[in-house]
Amino acid sequence: MMCPWCDQEMEQGFLMSSRPVIFGPEERESVLWPRKKGEVELMKLSWTISNIPAWHCARCRRVVAEHE
Ligand SMILES: [Zn+2]
Repeated sequence: MMCPWCDQEMEQGFLMSSRPVIFGPEERESVLWPRKKGEVELMKLSWTISNIPAWHCARCRRVVAEHE
């Protein structure tokens, strides 16, 4: 995947966490339920580690991730 910011090849790998990872339109203090409108749960709370496909650009220090 080419980086959408600098147009260089991104490194393919995985975003990993055993805790919830949320994308949302506004900052919040906690990632606990309930979810707010517009929020997307990229990764769930888990006893084991979750891995989702992701691409990293070291130059831009940005990560693009693919979720369900
Ligand atoms: Zn980049």
